Amino acid sequence: MFGFTPAVRLSLGLVVLTVSILILAQAIGLTPGAERQQLDVRKRLTETLASQVGVAIMRGDEILLQYLLESSVERNPEIESAGVRRNDGIVVSQTKLHAQKWAKAKAHESTPTHVRFPIMINGAKRAEFEITFEPLMSDSHPIFGIPTFILLVIFVSLSGFVGFWFYIKRALKHLDPSAVVPARVRNALNILAEGVLILDRREQIVLVNTALTEHLQRTEQSLVGKKASNLGWFLDPNQETRDYPWLTAINTGVKQTGVRVLLPTSDEKDKIFHVNAVPILDGKGSSQGTIAVFEDITELETKSRLLEEMIQQLAATQVAIESKNKELTYLATRDPLTNCFNRRALYEHLDGKFDGARTSDAEFSCIMADIDFFKKVNDTYGHAAGDEVIKMAANSLREVVRDMDMVARFGGEEFCVILPGAPLEQAQMIAERCREKIAAKDTNGIKVTGSFGVTSIRMGASSATQLIQQADEALYYSKQHGRNQVTCWKPGMESLIAETQH
Ligand code: GH3
Ligand code: MG
Ligand code: MG
Repeated sequence: MFGFTPAVRLSLGLVVLTVSILILAQAIGLTPGAERQQLDVRKRLTETLASQVGVAIMRGDEILLQYLLESSVERNPEIESAGVRRNDGIVVSQTKLHAQKWAKAKAHESTPTHVRFPIMINGAKRAEFEITFEPLMSDSHPIFGIPTFILLVIFVSLSGFVGFWFYIKRALKHLDPSAVVPARVRNALNILAEGVLILDRREQIVLVNTALTEHLQRTEQSLVGKKASNLGWFLDPNQETRDYPWLTAINTGVKQTGVRVLLPTSDEKDKIFHVNAVPILDGKGSSQGTIAVFEDITELETKSRLLEEMIQQLAATQVAIESKNKELTYLATRDPLTNCFNRRALYEHLDGKFDGARTSDAEFSCIMADIDFFKKVNDTYGHAAGDEVIKMAANSLREVVRDMDMVARFGGEEFCVILPGAPLEQAQMIAERCREKIAAKDTNGIKVTGSFGVTSIRMGASSATQLIQQADEALYYSKQHGRNQVTCWKPGMESLIAETQH
């Protein structure tokens, strides 16, 4: 109704009721009117005076009569004049100005200002007692000129409204709004581990269950009637929601779920709640309030954070292990002096690759290399200088091979290069380029040359070992034929070697 609060509506109702009672009282003559009182006084006064006047007339005492009239005018400020008129109309006695004052009197009739009273002696009217009174005091208020009764009504309306309003407002506050929730429902809500708030549409608390009073460390009485947003909690800033879920539920009539609300506690650690708020809708579908459920996820949150940290640590450990594994694999497959693959890695690699190339009929070549007269280098410049020369040879090989090729240290200063997909001629060319490189280099003043043997899968090797052997035989051929050269394996080369060895 016009958007008035219940307190205002009730107060207006009470004011209307009170004023109606006043008007009714006035209508049936229960209110003491000032005019009526004045008339009563005048009537009694006239009667008293008339009886005294009657006595004076009976005695024929004119002096007493005159005295009575004059003293009554003197003593009663309301009386302006008095007189006694015989039946024949002659005035027997009168006060000053009576003739003038009485001139306004109506014939044979009393008015509030001109009163006539018969003087009866022995049952017969002997004369008439006449009194002129001042005009009746006005029934209007001297200041506002408004009738007193209307003023009374206005006063009662205004003061009554203010008084009723204050009283009703206080009374409504003291009335327990939570009483509307049946005891069975309350008990059920109090058993829940989750906090429950029932709010009216002004978000004032109608009911708060035990779990939530414990979280808030307040009594139910101190919470009922309070606005839910003013309880010291705040929204988790790490979420998109900017309004309390209960407010949104009330304002939009739409259920809100999973909003994080934080409640500061005495031990500097906020309690974390997951809040769901369901609007309470009336028959027309408009929101009358909300039920908000608070799930304490503080511990869950702490544990999940701990778990997250552990997972992160585990991931870091895994990365460390993987890199350590890589390191170990690297170390296990490499030769520490030259960083080339070691012999074991070479054979492991060859195991799969050779057969693959054979079945797919792909090109697959192998180069064996050995530094010429290396013993002399060691003997002349020492082992450390020899090491530097070995490194130089390894680098030279790496510089000329392709990315897909594998360079392995086969023995002391002997290397094996695997060239997948490379035909014999290409392998020969690579070997030649390497030979030139080694011959051209100068290692701390030491110059060496190298010998090379080259073969390809097309030369008929049936195993990786046989392929290496062919390359080795070709290398041997180079050694036998002047060193610092590249030899491609040919069938029958093995017998040739055997001959020279004998
Ligand atoms: P050839 O031309 O016939 O190959 O003559 P060579 O003197 O090079 O003979 P061979 O290849 O048999 O010599 C290998 C020498 O390499 C023997 C060994 O003392 C030396 N050697 C093997 N491993 C290392 C190493 O790691 N460092 C050094 N400095 N020398 C090594
Ligand atoms: Mg050698
Ligand atoms: Mg050697």
